[in-house]
Amino acid sequence: MSSRSTVTPADRATAWDVIVVGAGPAGCAAAAAARQADPVARVLLLDRTDFPRDKVCGDGIAAQAWDALRDLGFDTGAVAEGYPSLRRLRLTGPGGPVAERDMAHPVHVVPRRVFDARLVADVTARGVELRRHRVTGVVVRTDGVEVDGLLRARAVIGADGAESLVRRAAGVPAPRSGTVAVALRGYAPVPADARTQMITMTDRRWPAYAWNFPVGDGTANVGYGHLLDGPPVSRAEMAESLHRLLPDVGEVQGLRGHRLPLSTGRPRIPDGRVLLVGDAQSLIHPLTGEGIYYAIVSGALAGGAAVRGARAGAVYRRAMRHRLGRHLRHTSLVASAGRWPAVIDAGVRSAARRQRSFDDLVHFGLADGTLRPRMVAGLVR
Ligand SMILES: Cc1cc2nc3c(=O)[nH]c(=O)nc-3n(C[C@H](O)[C@H](O)[C@H](O)COP(=O)(O)OP(=O)(O)OC[C@H]3O[C@@H](n4cnc5c(N)ncnc54)[C@H](O)[C@@H]3O)c2cc1C
Repeated sequence: MSSRSTVTPADRATAWDVIVVGAGPAGCAAAAAARQADPVARVLLLDRTDFPRDKVCGDGIAAQAWDALRDLGFDTGAVAEGYPSLRRLRLTGPGGPVAERDMAHPVHVVPRRVFDARLVADVTARGVELRRHRVTGVVVRTDGVEVDGLLRARAVIGADGAESLVRRAAGVPAPRSGTVAVALRGYAPVPADARTQMITMTDRRWPAYAWNFPVGDGTANVGYGHLLDGPPVSRAEMAESLHRLLPDVGEVQGLRGHRLPLSTGRPRIPDGRVLLVGDAQSLIHPLTGEGIYYAIVSGALAGGAAVRGARAGAVYRRAMRHRLGRHLRHTSLVASAGRWPAVIDAGVRSAARRQRSFDDLVHFGLADGTLRPRMVAGLVR
């Protein structure tokens, strides 16, 4: 499939209800939610590229992300088709402790080239219009928002990723230092029956870790990332860290890097008609690098709010606080404490001892879990 059609004179004449900039998971979720909130809403989805397209990512999609997609009407069976569910997770803490267990809910590893194109196909089959267009300017007027002087909408959703132009145009400051990570990702051959996801942390340049996520087709998505803090590190050094932490990995193809704006640097959600979701709103888990679940949830909440026009920002802010506020506060707290690798090692040891601690840890790192008394007790012990 492709989004080859570009903006036409008819699009310019249309009074759009919602324009979504960026057709990744956050944008597709936002567009679907806007139509769910108002089934006759005119929703335009813009992306600078055609689909399918690659996106640098670990491709690990948590169970709760699939649930959130299902709630938005996506045919998740079709989106995940051909990619087996994975339950086994092996976590290695920065000091070496290991916890390997089955997760309560399975994840899927679907290459983003496939995953995003399937989401786009699903949402456009349900009445959302898609155009290939690179947005360069967003201006708020009293009665709506103008995109590139060509298109007008009652509200605009910036789902345009880590380097969001909409964020800059809305006057939202760039993430501050110490709240952005950087990671390299590629694909490597693994045995066709490999089914264990691996996350191996290291206390060198902490917080940092490597991952090995089998896709299920004889390849695995492998990568290495760390917090962007302190002296710069070359691509060659990062690739060396990947191989040091994953010694069994053979030749890696398609190694590419990308920045991850972490939720510890998320901006306050402003009032008004311009909303930011997913990476544009700095919604990536600071401990696990997970962002797809947040992208879908924030997209869903923003899409529902966007049909409210001028009240959209306030409605979205309240909805986010209600849905993810507590989780995000706890995440920031643990990220601060986790500056000491020993804290994370304690969490891994606790997860190795008890299945319930393992489940709590996974729920905290991949979805919207909060700090439970037994988690704190496990860390203290
Ligand atoms: C190396 C790495 C590994 C990761 N691993 C995982 C993982 O395993 N699991 C997980 O859950 N998360 C992971 N993440 C995080 C995840 O990739 C992001 O959180 C997620 O992609 C955010 O989705 P999004 O829709 O907000 O943005 P994106 O997926 O980045 O989509 C943004 C879209 O906007 C478009 N766009 C950008 N600018 C413009 C413009 N000016 N005009 C029009 N269109 C524009 C782009 O073409 C793109 O399609 C990882 C991230 C990295 C970097």
